[in-house]
Amino acid sequence: MKLVLIGAPAAGKGTQARKIIAKYSLAYISTGDMLRAEVAKESELGLTVKEIMSTGGLVSDELIIAIVKERIKEDDCKNGFILDGFPRTVVQAEKLDEIGGIDKAIYINCSDEVLLERITARETCPKCGASYNKLAAPSKVAGICDVCGEKLTQRKDDTIEAGQARLKTFHEQSEPLVEYYNKQGKLYEIDGTMGIDNITEAIFAVLGE
Ligand code: AMP
Repeated sequence: MKLVLIGAPAAGKGTQARKIIAKYSLAYISTGDMLRAEVAKESELGLTVKEIMSTGGLVSDELIIAIVKERIKEDDCKNGFILDGFPRTVVQAEKLDEIGGIDKAIYINCSDEVLLERITARETCPKCGASYNKLAAPSKVAGICDVCGEKLTQRKDDTIEAGQARLKTFHEQSEPLVEYYNKQGKLYEIDGTMGIDNITEAIFAVLGE
């Protein structure tokens, strides 16, 4: 099973991806997590993308396609994978089709108003990538990751300014993917304003047993 999760920032892609891989044993590929790891390492790639990421823009299609192309060749992807944050442009989706394509695209749809509220209340684990919402879905111990015990931080791009820029980028560059996969008959739209567990249930219904 090869899946793509589409959704604006803070729609719940990462949270749902973690629940999906627990049930279906798929490889989890988050291009955002991969890039953040490069920024933390201060690698050449990290230094190239740091500024773009912190201001809510997109890194170049060529660069991200090259990263994903290599990643999906790895062993853990043999039984399938779930892509979170890729593709983000129609050019990326076309490239993905050229290298094998996908089975289903799940679109978690949510209003900008709800998303901005979530973005500013989000806390993220810099070590394992788990994310929490200070108001709606806090960690068990304030400021500490439930999964790995690391101290939680706020992502550099989870400010109001960067959040608004990322939402604009989503509408302009990524929303056309909804139509792209709809035309292929692969699109499944889920109401992202539901509670976390209800969204998971709706996704599992799409994916089947
Ligand atoms: P995310 O964690 O998915 O919200 O990604 C964080 C940031 O990484 C985005 O705002 C972009 O700057 C960059 N990024 C992640 N995935 C992609 C992609 N597929 N194409 C371009 N930029 C990306």
